[in-house]
Amino acid sequence: MAARVLIIGAGAVGAVTTHKCAEFPEIFSDICLASRTLSKCDAIAKQLKRPIKTAQVDADDAKAVVKLIKEFKATMVLNLALPYQDLSIMDACLEAGVDYVDTACYEPLDDNRYSYKWQWPYHDKYASKGIMALLGCGFDPGITNVFVAYAKKHFFTSIETLDILDCNGGDHGLPFATNFNPEINLRELDAKGKYFKDGKWIEIDAMSQKQTFIFPEVGQKDMYLIYHEELETITKHFPEIKQARFWMTFSENYLMHLKVLKNTGMTGIKPIKHQGQDIVPIQFLKSVLPDPATLGPRTKGKTNIGCIITGITPTGKRETRYIYQICDHQETFKEVGSQAVAYTAGVPPVIGAALMAQGVWKKPGVFNTEQMDPDPFMEIMAKFGLPWKVLEFYELPH
Ligand code: NDP
Repeated sequence: MAARVLIIGAGAVGAVTTHKCAEFPEIFSDICLASRTLSKCDAIAKQLKRPIKTAQVDADDAKAVVKLIKEFKATMVLNLALPYQDLSIMDACLEAGVDYVDTACYEPLDDNRYSYKWQWPYHDKYASKGIMALLGCGFDPGITNVFVAYAKKHFFTSIETLDILDCNGGDHGLPFATNFNPEINLRELDAKGKYFKDGKWIEIDAMSQKQTFIFPEVGQKDMYLIYHEELETITKHFPEIKQARFWMTFSENYLMHLKVLKNTGMTGIKPIKHQGQDIVPIQFLKSVLPDPATLGPRTKGKTNIGCIITGITPTGKRETRYIYQICDHQETFKEVGSQAVAYTAGVPPVIGAALMAQGVWKKPGVFNTEQMDPDPFMEIMAKFGLPWKVLEFYELPH
């Protein structure tokens, strides 16, 4: 059945999602793009080859979202606003009785310890209404989780270790810019590093563990262990995993800027008084940093995001596979007018939504992507612009 999709959030990622949905009218028959600022929705709508509706909405207000869902007669909502809006949009979908998809787990505005503990409890309410919420269906989280489910289904009877590797080998030529929302990105990097080992979470100082890795089609990069939300869901859904880590590449220049911003208090998330007014330092910082949506024309190079997974094969051998996806910044800019980081985050919710709309991934309740059958997703990734590869590989040093 063709879906009437309401996309909320007209930022860097939402723009890609809207472009992609528009490319598949046989799946997404009608599209409405809504955001806090209507002019951003209208600017994206103008770039498309077919007409869509646009609307202004404050997604913190669940009643306003319900009203919009009903007016547009949406059958599903894709949440590409910020993680702070996850719960109000989930509440709205529940009240209106429509499916929900997002790409990042909820985090409270004044606390950057994000966790699925706020969204998982919606499971029974969604199940009893016969509707589905697909959580964290971006690239990481999202496709990385699907890669793990695929490895478990096709290569291993049990998984022992997992390393998720996120590399942006692109260069925008600016002294400092983040590739997606600066506030969300810097909150993530400001937190302590954390990984899972032998049933326990081990906390380390931020950026204190580094490995050098040669990324296919990108080259050699330093990558640092950080905590990332899919570690919480993957270790829950694959309880046999002994060690799970997440690595992201950063240049020395990026880390130097990060250190200075942190040391000067600019990444703070609590309000401070400035000339008699309350301001949140990181929100002010977001206003002065380049908007990630403007990086498209100037970014060259490729991203490579993937999973190195070691497990026991059905014949009892211990083997390792590396499943990864490469995206070229200039190619994605040519296709949808956005750089590859926004592209790799904005396309997966479209794939998830397409499978839900077609009934292939449709289950009442609240699910992470690794809980669904990975095959239909992996089969259509290339058609949606995200081809992937799998290699026999070696385990990363522990
Ligand atoms: P942007 O800041 O570029 O865009 C967010 C958009 O949401 C903005 O257009 C903003 O509107 C809108 N918005 C914010 N608050 C509200 C509100 N209360 N009501 C309505 N609209 C609102 O962020 P990105 O596009 O970079 O990121 C979008 C999401 O994608 C984030 O949740 C991020 O965590 C996630 N993400 C996921 C990834 C993955 O792989 N899983 C990777 C990268 C990002 P306005 O501009 O008018 O303020």
